[in-house]
Amino acid sequence: MDDCLFCKIIRGEIPSYRVFEDAHAFAFLDINPFGLGHTLVVPKFHAEQLFFLPPEELAGVMPAVQRVATLLRNRLGCEGMALMQLNGEVAGQTVGHVHFHLIPRFAGQPAGWAPCTDPAAKDLAAVQRRILG
Ligand code: AMP
Ligand code: ZN
Repeated sequence: MDDCLFCKIIRGEIPSYRVFEDAHAFAFLDINPFGLGHTLVVPKFHAEQLFFLPPEELAGVMPAVQRVATLLRNRLGCEGMALMQLNGEVAGQTVGHVHFHLIPRFAGQPAGWAPCTDPAAKDLAAVQRRILG
């Protein structure tokens, strides 16, 4: 889709901190992270919401969700992992291309979901280096 932000990121027309890519999926760091390593995994196929993603495309992207979750856990040493996926403005969706939020969760971290202020989490270049080794 010509005007879609995440399609532009997938095509490389807008820069991103990429951490994984395969034939079906593209994963990059969220620009406004809820915590260290907050990553978005998106299908390369453009669909605005989960309801409109063909099942075979969903089947293509889910292995990447699991693979990136494992990568984040191994590289960042988090104790847990939140997976979040929002559909529709009323649910809080702001970008109209299906995306899966992977949010590493660390012991002692306050509960709740909000953009964080931790400078280490906001230094996306450094986080990308840690993830990619
Ligand atoms: P949602 O509220 O589920 O639609 O999430 C959209 C997410 O995309 C938000 O967490 C934003 O911080 C993130 N985002 C928006 N623009 C960019 C961008 N250019 N690069 C990386 N993440 C982005
Ligand atoms: Zn798109």
